Amino acid sequence: MKKGRAFSLLSGGLDSLLATRLIMDQGIEVVALHFITPFFGYQKKGQEARYQERWKRLYGVQARIIDVGDEYLRVVRSPRYGYGRNFNPCIDCKVFLFSRARELMEEEKRDFLISGEVLGQRPMSQRRDAMRIVERDSGTEGVLLRPLCAQHLKPTRAETEGLVDRDKLLAITGRGRKPQMELAEKMGIRHYPTPAGGCLLTDPELADRFRKIFQQSPLITVEDILFLQVGRHFRLSGGQHLVVGRREEENKRLMELFREGDTLLRVQGIPGPLGLLRGPAEEKDLRLASSVLARYSKAKDQEKAEVQYGNKRDEFSGRIRVSPAGEEEISSLRF
Ligand code: SF4
Repeated sequence: MKKGRAFSLLSGGLDSLLATRLIMDQGIEVVALHFITPFFGYQKKGQEARYQERWKRLYGVQARIIDVGDEYLRVVRSPRYGYGRNFNPCIDCKVFLFSRARELMEEEKRDFLISGEVLGQRPMSQRRDAMRIVERDSGTEGVLLRPLCAQHLKPTRAETEGLVDRDKLLAITGRGRKPQMELAEKMGIRHYPTPAGGCLLTDPELADRFRKIFQQSPLITVEDILFLQVGRHFRLSGGQHLVVGRREEENKRLMELFREGDTLLRVQGIPGPLGLLRGPAEEKDLRLASSVLARYSKAKDQEKAEVQYGNKRDEFSGRIRVSPAGEEEISSLRF
């Protein structure tokens, strides 16, 4: 049998790892492409070498991490096939990622692509008709091999041309996990990869925030999406955005996300949440932001709280005395 070279699409979960390994076991050289966007996989940004080393050490897989965040925002804004239960445009997402993989395959003269999809596993994107749409729209018909359920699908070029032995491919279908667990056991995979965080577009609370921001702003950046993932969010009447950290690590993250023009707020003398106000702020906005922040601090039952604010990361030069906001006010501002 001829040897080939392939790319696999590594989602970070078990199925794509198994699919990759099944094909590697047939003597094919596989590089696993792991696409990241601010909605999934982004914690690997800047840590690429560490993750690549980990996949190699734990699973013997050569991985490549590719940030497609900017382009992906366009997919999320107007998906041709709509959204799933939350803000997840699964079919368009796959069309986009598979198209990118196909382009790379052509550029680097690889023979075919591999995905870990299983027929009938997911309601939106892994139905037979959806799989066909994805192949057609991404230009991957005939070159996309799904080793875990290949025996239920038409043979691909890799199979008909003899690069891959179809008899060694599988016929898994449905939502059960047992066949995958057994296969992992057989392959000696004990530490299952966990796709940390999963896809945030399927998280009901975050999806709601993402939807609102896409509806309200014609221009969204990766940074905007990262910003929406931290803390409690409030929208003031002038369109300013207030974020209140819920934990120490979120306070730190807000410090990192701080940029020129933002205002930082903290309750004086009481350790607790940090507030970040984005957008031009007049005195009344600072007052409102301060009272919301005070509501989430240990001063929430006090009649008055003193809040410090400033426009630099390490300088809180202003002060304001406010009453902590009431529940009604809080819920009317929530974003
Ligand atoms: S769940 Fe998220 S990452 Fe997965 S296909 Fe849907 S949109 Fe894409």
